[in-house]
Amino acid sequence: MSKNDFPETLIQFQKTFSDEEACINYLEKLRWPEGFVCLKCDSTDKPYRFKNRPTVLRCRNCHANTRLTAGTIMHKTRTPLHVWFWAAYLVTSHTPGLSATQFQRQLGLKRYETAFQILHKLRIAMVRPQRDKIGASGHVEVDETFVGGRTHSKKQGVTDKVLVAAAVEVRSLNKPRRNGERKLYAGRLRLAQISDRGQLALEDFVKKSVAPGGTIFTDGWTGYDNLTTLGYEHNATVINGDHKKTDLVLPMVHLVFSNLKTWLRGTHHGVSPKHLSVYLDEFTFRFNRRFYPMAAVNSILGIAVCVPGTTYKHLYSN
Ligand SMILES: [Zn+2]
Repeated sequence: MSKNDFPETLIQFQKTFSDEEACINYLEKLRWPEGFVCLKCDSTDKPYRFKNRPTVLRCRNCHANTRLTAGTIMHKTRTPLHVWFWAAYLVTSHTPGLSATQFQRQLGLKRYETAFQILHKLRIAMVRPQRDKIGASGHVEVDETFVGGRTHSKKQGVTDKVLVAAAVEVRSLNKPRRNGERKLYAGRLRLAQISDRGQLALEDFVKKSVAPGGTIFTDGWTGYDNLTTLGYEHNATVINGDHKKTDLVLPMVHLVFSNLKTWLRGTHHGVSPKHLSVYLDEFTFRFNRRFYPMAAVNSILGIAVCVPGTTYKHLYSN
């Protein structure tokens, strides 16, 4: 199955995953594009199927059972697979901010706990600790900002504001516009909570996020002064709060900050510093997969695990 066969719209998604059978067929096709092969004896005979255990395939030759959902977060679930698929779609799609209550209502789930558990598992599946570094080609914008801050219940001047650093790849469309310009767009993103705006914290973030030798654009803040010594190409521009300059020099990272803040405010009504990193991961996950919604669905459900080889690797680059 090529990436072109992934449903790309809500309508296509609804058609493709209309019921349990459709989801099982999809999983099976991803796992065995050429048809079922028994893991134990390599038999390619059509497997036995069970009405009450539709995700189990039994080899006709050696009678070994293979579970379609093994290695995915849906393994041994009692919730129908198409509910999981919908949950993954809703969580990864552009309209973020699904509460367990909304989700329960939209999918008609009887128990709130089920909705909560599914969302919880999906969120955990968004956190991928071993991410590669960005910026091997093109340049990367790096900046830091304060987010959050529920000040109303506290004394004046005391806030929950937390510093967040961001690194965003800047890419340009292959096809130039009529006037010869190439439209810029944001590539992959890295976000992290940092302790302060000092050189150590910022350099630590940069080293963890950006590939060695990459080109980095920043504002004139002294915390970035040493990036050249660390082996990066550094392009610093003094901005001094000039918005026009910001749009020219760091357009992508500021767009990210603005979207992030809107999302945190709107969906989560502000987030305490304790939970922020989980939300940063969630935001990053969705952002980095916004062009491949179905790959995101696969990734979050853990379906990638079933797929042998590297067929989908380019889609899962985080
Ligand atoms: Zn067998």
